[in-house]
Formats: sequence, structure tokens, C-alpha cells
Amino acid sequence: MNLILMGLPGAGKGTQAEKVVATYGIPHISTGDMFRAAIKNETELGLKAKSYMDEGGLVPDEVTIGIVRERLSEEDCNDGFLLDGFPRTIAQAEALEKILASLVRELDFVLNIDVPKDLLLERLTGRRVSPSSGKTYHVIYNPPKAEGKCDVDGSDLIQREDDKPETVKKRLEVNEQQAQPLIDFYKAKGYFKNIDGNRDIDEVFADIHVLLKGTHA
Ligand code: AMP
Repeated sequence: MNLILMGLPGAGKGTQAEKVVATYGIPHISTGDMFRAAIKNETELGLKAKSYMDEGGLVPDEVTIGIVRERLSEEDCNDGFLLDGFPRTIAQAEALEKILASLVRELDFVLNIDVPKDLLLERLTGRRVSPSSGKTYHVIYNPPKAEGKCDVDGSDLIQREDDKPETVKKRLEVNEQQAQPLIDFYKAKGYFKNIDGNRDIDEVFADIHVLLKGTHA
């Protein structure tokens, strides 16, 4: 099955992506992961992507579309794929239609893990991390045994700069503005499905599973 997974930061997209690919045996194609791997391996693609990523901007469409085109042509995508982080622009969405048409394929669903923004703010700003052990906690959902102290080494937990409310709010707004045209695009095409993400991980996945069960792999 041919899927796109969408969701704002903190919505649980990564968690659901892992469950979907494990259950349906399809590759997880995350453009962000591909760029990070390319940067780590110091490839030509990594060099092209790095400056844009460092500045928090988007990698140019022609670069991004090129890597997705190559990846979707690989054999392990024959039975389907889960795209994560792509498309992010209408130009990418239109290019994806052409790529799929050339492979005689069609999207099945665009799944959007939907969580209200105030809850996302709570999820994202509640994260705490131990700089020494690297372990992460959440003040509400995954608290340490002793408040403010790491279970592993007792160190003081900190809040990352990225997780401070103002930064998180900005990030959510930027992401929302980016996502809206794509949501409209896929709604108009009939692929779009909202999944209520404000529940337990397994309940969210159960909804996705019900939806996908009717689809051929
Ligand atoms: P992500 O892990 O999906 O948040 O992606 C990390 C970074 O990779 C983004 O901030 C962009 O700089 C770049 N990136 C990932 N996917 C795309 C895309 N579809 N189009 C443009 N840039 C992307």
C-alpha cells in the first residue's frame, strides 16, 4: 500500500510510522532521515542539503524530488511505501503524482495524525533531558522517579532550548502553515484521512489498521 503520513511535531508521527512499516512490511521513506544520513556520510547530496537544514529551511524541490524519485524506483517499494516528511510543498506533491504515474502506481491514503495544538504544546514543552545520560522524560507522560532528576545517574534534568514554549509555538505555526496547502490538495483528491491522535498509541494505530485492512498490499 502506498501511503503518506502527516502530522505536526509531537503528534506521534514517528511512533505510528514505525508501527505501520513493521505491520505491513513496507519501507519507511523519511526524506529528513535520508538527508541526515547523507550529511553524516558526507555525500554530494549531504553537501547540497546541509546549509538549508542548518538554517531550518527546506531543501530545494529539485533535490528533494530527485531523491524520492530514485528511492521509489527501488525494488523494495514494489509492494508499497510509507512516505514521511514528503511532500512538503505543492510542487513536491505534483511531482509525486508524476513519479507514481510513471511507475503505474497510485496513492492509497494520506494519513494525518491530528492532535490539537494546545496539546502538542503541552507534549513538546514537557520534555526534559539529562545532558549526561541522554535519557529523555516527560513531566506528565513519562516522569522520572524523583522530580527533576535522571533515573539513570541522578543528574539534573534540563529543558532544551528547542522545547521552550515560544520556540515550540513558532515551530508548530510554521509547520501548520506548510501543511495546510497539502491537506487541501489531498482532500480535493480524496486521499486525505484524519486520524484522531489524541489517544493511546495503540488506539491510534488500531484506527489506522482498520482503515488499511481493506487495502491490498
Ligand atoms: P524532518 O526530519 O522531516 O523534520 O526533516 C528535517 C529537515 O530536512 C527539514 O527541516 C528540511 O530542511 C529537510 N527536509 C526533509 N524533508 C524535506 C522535504 N520534503 N522538502 C524539503 N526539505 C526537506
